[in-house]
Amino acid sequence: MLIDCFQTSAQISRLIIFVKREDITYIYGQSLNKQLNSGNVETQYEQIYKKQHYSLVGKHSAVKVCHWTKSELRGGEGCYKGTFYGIKSHQCVQMTPAVSSCTENCSFCWRFQGFDGMHISDEDDPEFILEESIKAHKKLLTGFKGNPMVSKEKWEESQDPKHIAISLTGEPTLYSRLGEFIALARKRGISTFLVTNGTLPMVLEKLDPLPTQLYVTVAGPTKAVFNSVLNPALGNAWENFNRTLDLLPSLDTRKVIRHTLVKDINFPFLEEYTAMDRRAEPDFIESKGYVHVGASIANLSQDNMPSHDSIVDFSKKLAANLGYVYTAERRESRVSLICKDPSKAKIDFSAI
Ligand code: SF4
Repeated sequence: MLIDCFQTSAQISRLIIFVKREDITYIYGQSLNKQLNSGNVETQYEQIYKKQHYSLVGKHSAVKVCHWTKSELRGGEGCYKGTFYGIKSHQCVQMTPAVSSCTENCSFCWRFQGFDGMHISDEDDPEFILEESIKAHKKLLTGFKGNPMVSKEKWEESQDPKHIAISLTGEPTLYSRLGEFIALARKRGISTFLVTNGTLPMVLEKLDPLPTQLYVTVAGPTKAVFNSVLNPALGNAWENFNRTLDLLPSLDTRKVIRHTLVKDINFPFLEEYTAMDRRAEPDFIESKGYVHVGASIANLSQDNMPSHDSIVDFSKKLAANLGYVYTAERRESRVSLICKDPSKAKIDFSAI
């Protein structure tokens, strides 16, 4: 057992106790806030989440309506995943089953990082999380009913979600019943995008069923950069992450590597990312520029935002190195897509 105390770049100190349990190292931690304000910290966190328009679901999940969901509802553009893979943003629920639990404290993360540790001690049932998340999402959309910019057709479609983005915040693979949650969504004809930081390969190895599309964030091209940018709370995060890279080729689902790129910090490192992507053999690789918003403002500066053109240039060089095809981009999201086979980029939703 090791007791460690550290301060993240987001100025949150945590008392952390590492406990080895089977092959997962859990951390039971308390934020400095919690230590200083024991008794009412939950209320404080709830207030922050509410202020940021999250809807808390049960004991450890949350929903937040995405900017692009609102945009597409109003007849505007959907998110880049619509352009790349064909999802409909106005039918997408953005949620997490691990709102206050993560294995990292990424410096580029724009979400509130009031993480309590790496263990969800009292887990809600997946049926409950799914039903209540959809209910919460619909409730958050109520104000759009009757909005003159929202067509009747779009409104009605929005009440019948077809996608769930299991991302939002936290590390979703910390929820031990994630596979059941994905299975229930599939049963309802809902596709799932799961975004993980790859620090828990032992969960991905056993995840059944796998999501429609599995995202792994690859933002640490070397061990030193990994540790400084992602601030892992797990002692063996780098080794675990590398296990995930080597595991990916064996996982039978659509796989995406997402490079979140922070200028002068983890970008460009073209050769290092090329070597990692070659091992992981993803179907798709998204290169996305860091955006200076939200909580990340405390850690990084505007100068750390790479230009869209530099992202495209990087992406094209990566494609050339790997034998992938440069396929698409969205300038306002500073993101580009390269594919092993561009004809497979669009999802066949009839097969969900
Ligand atoms: S996939 Fe992500 S960005 Fe796109 S609509 Fe859903 S939550 Fe928003």
